[in-house]
Amino acid sequence: MDDRETLLARIALLEESEHYFRTLFETTLDAILLIDPERGIFDCNPASLTMFRATSRRALCQLRPSALSARHQSGWIPSADLIVHHMAEAFEKGHSRFEWQARRLDGEEFPVHVTLIAIALHGRRMVQCVMRDQTELKSREREALLAHKALKQSNHELQVALEQLQLAASTDQLTSAWNRRFFNKVLSTERARAARSGHPLSLILVDIDHFKAIPDSHGHLVGDRVLVEMAALLQESLRQSDYLIRWGGEEFAILTPDLDEENGAQLAERLRDKVSNHRFSEGLTLTISAGVAQLNDEDVPTRWVSRADQALYSAKTSGRNRVVMAASA
Ligand code: GH3
Ligand code: MG
Ligand code: MG
Repeated sequence: MDDRETLLARIALLEESEHYFRTLFETTLDAILLIDPERGIFDCNPASLTMFRATSRRALCQLRPSALSARHQSGWIPSADLIVHHMAEAFEKGHSRFEWQARRLDGEEFPVHVTLIAIALHGRRMVQCVMRDQTELKSREREALLAHKALKQSNHELQVALEQLQLAASTDQLTSAWNRRFFNKVLSTERARAARSGHPLSLILVDIDHFKAIPDSHGHLVGDRVLVEMAALLQESLRQSDYLIRWGGEEFAILTPDLDEENGAQLAERLRDKVSNHRFSEGLTLTISAGVAQLNDEDVPTRWVSRADQALYSAKTSGRNRVVMAASA
C-alpha cells in the first residue's frame, strides 16, 4: 500500500467514526449541548431543539446556559451563580450532576436532570451538557406523594372511627360506664395478670336501694338522670386501674385490681357513705347496697360473680344501705 492509499483508508475510517458518533449525538432522546464557558452554547442535538422548543440550531447556539434556566433554582439561588459553580466543579472533577429547573424558549419551566462533562474540543475547554426531562418523573413522584398522604389521612380516619366504634361497643350508652361485654373481655386479662403477679383481684356488686320508686314517682327521665349521676359519683372515687361497669338496670359492678376482699369492702363502704350523703336530681337521696368477693383459686368467673351476688343479696336482706363481704355472707 502506498502513502496515498494509506491516507485514503485513514480518511474512510475517520468518516465512519464521525458518522457513528454523529448518529449517537443526533438520535439520542437526551438533549445534548456543547457549551463553551466563554462564548455560550456551541452546538446542540435535535433532542435539545425539541426540549427547548427551538425552531433551529441557530436559535440555541450562542445562548448562555442561563437563558435556558429558570431565574432561580431551589432555595432562591440565582441560576447564573449556580452555573458558575457547576461548571467549575465539572472542570475540577471531570463531571458534575444535579437537578435543574430549566426554561423553554417560550418561557415554560420544567425540571431536568443534568450531567456536565468536561471535554477538550478544537483545542478549547468545553462542557458537554446532557439533560433529561424529569417532568413526568416529578409529576409521578408528586402523585405518589399525594396518594400516600391521602392514604395516610384515610388510614388515620379509619383508625379513629374504629376506636370510636370499639369504645361504643364497650360502653353503656346512658352512663358511659363500661358494659358487660367489656367486662367479659377485660376479666380474662385481669385474671391472668393477677395470677401472674400474685396480686389480689376483687369484684364489688352495687345495687341502688328501692330504686323502682324513683321512675315510678318521678318518671323514667329522672330515673335515667339519677343513674347517670350515680355512675359519675362512683367513678369519682375509683382509681385509674379500676373498672366501673353498668351491670344492668340500677346495678353497677366494680373490678378492682390489687385490692383484697377487705380493702374492696373498705372502698365499697366509702362509696356507700358518699352516695348516702349526696343529693341527686330533684333533691333525691339514695342509698346503695354492695357485695364484695375476692377472686380465689377455686373460682371460675361464674362462681366468683355468684359469690359477690350472694353477698349483695345478704346486704339487701339484712336491711340495705350496707356492704357485705362474700367471706362472711
Ligand atoms: P332493691 O332495693 O331491692 O334493689 O329495690 P329496687 O326497687 O331498686 O329493685 P327492682 O329490681 O325492684 O327495681 C329496679 C328498677 O330500676 C326497675 C326499673 O323501674 C328501674 N330501672 C332499671 N333500669 C333503668 C333504666 O335504665 N332507667 C330507668 N329510668 N329506670 C331503670
Ligand atoms: Mg337490682
Ligand atoms: Mg335496686
